[in-house]
Amino acid sequence: MLIHFIPKFASFAFLIFLMGSKIKKIAVFTSGGDSPGMNAAIRSVVRTCAYVKVDCIGIYRGYEGMIEGDFVPLNARSVNNIINKGGTFLKSARCSEFRTIEGRKKAYDQLKREGVDAMVVIGGDGSLAGAEVLYNEYNIPFTGIPGTIDNDIFGTRCTLGFDTALNTVVEAIDKIRDTASSHHRLFFVEVMGRDVGHIALNAGIGGGAEEILIPEEDLGLERLLDSLKRSKARGKSSSIVVVAEGDRTTGKNVYELKEYVEKNLPVYDVRVCVLGHMQRGGSPTCFDRVLASRMGVRAVEALLEGKTNLMVGIRDNTIILTPVSEAINGKTKIDRDLIRVSDIMTL
Ligand code: ADP
Repeated sequence: MLIHFIPKFASFAFLIFLMGSKIKKIAVFTSGGDSPGMNAAIRSVVRTCAYVKVDCIGIYRGYEGMIEGDFVPLNARSVNNIINKGGTFLKSARCSEFRTIEGRKKAYDQLKREGVDAMVVIGGDGSLAGAEVLYNEYNIPFTGIPGTIDNDIFGTRCTLGFDTALNTVVEAIDKIRDTASSHHRLFFVEVMGRDVGHIALNAGIGGGAEEILIPEEDLGLERLLDSLKRSKARGKSSSIVVVAEGDRTTGKNVYELKEYVEKNLPVYDVRVCVLGHMQRGGSPTCFDRVLASRMGVRAVEALLEGKTNLMVGIRDNTIILTPVSEAINGKTKIDRDLIRVSDIMTL
C-alpha cells in the first residue's frame, strides 16, 4: 500500500517540497562552545537525511574544518551509539579565519567542491551569525540548532544542553551541601552564565540555595549580608550562595565576595567552588536527547521545504522556527516568576 512509503512524520507541505526539493546534500557541523546533546542533534540530522534519502556529510571542527575541507560522509549507521554521549564527535572549534572574507571564500570553495546544497549548524549565536554571513555572500541555505548550555538565545524556551547543565549543577550543589553542612560552612558556588543568570536561577532553586546572584537582578551586598545573618540566626547548618559567573551586581567576583563576607560576618567559615567546564560535559538528559531529536528533524525538514536562515527552537512544547537575525539580535528574559519563587524559597 502506498501509505507505507510515505514518511510517518511528513506533513503534506513537506512532501510537496520534498518531491521538488533541489537539496540533495546537507552538511552538518558543530561550532563554538560545545554542549551536551550536540551528538544527539547530529544523529537526528543524519538519520532524517537518510530517511528522506538526502546525502549527508559531517564537517569536523566547525568553520575551521569547513575552510580545510575536513569532511566525512555520514549515513544512518555512522551515528550509532552516540545519543548518550556528551561533547560532539564532529569536534568543535572557534575560527578567526572564518571571520575574514578570504576565509569564507575558502570555506565556500570547499562546500562547492563537495557538492553541499545546504547546511545545519549546531552552536551558539556566534556560529549562527557565521552561517548568516556565509549565506549573504554565497547563498548557501542553512538552518540552525541552538546548542549552548547558557540558554541565552532568543527564539527558544531552552537551548540544547541547558537541561543537562542544570542537572549537573544541582548534583554538584547537593554534594557541596553535604560537606558544607558537616562543617557549618558557607559556600559560594560559581556557575556558568557570562551575561545571563538562567543556570544560576534555575539550578539555585533546584539546589535549594540560600541566595542566588544573577546579572539581571541587583541584590546588593547589604541584602546578602542580611540574608546570611538571618540564616545563621535561624540555625541553618550550612549556606549555599549560587553566583552566575557574569554577575557584577555586587561589584565583586566570588573570591572578593568570600573576603567581604569573612570580614563582615566572621562567624562564617567561607569557601568558594567554581564549577567551570564540568558544566558543559556529561551524558545528555532525556529532555535534551528528545529536544535534539526533534530539532534535528525540523532543521532538515525546513531546508527541504525551501526555508533558510531559520533557527529551530521550542516553545510551549512545540518546535518553532525563528529568523536567525532575530535569534542573534534578540535578548532572552529572565523569568520574573522564578525570581519571585526564589525570594520566597530563600526566606
Ligand atoms: P558560539 O557559537 O558558541 O556563540 P562563537 O561566538 O565563538 O561561539 O562563534 C563560533 C565561530 O563562529 C567563531 O569562531 C567564528 O568562526 C564564527 N563566527 C562568529 N561570529 C561571526 C561573524 N560575525 N562572522 C563570521 N563568522 C562568525
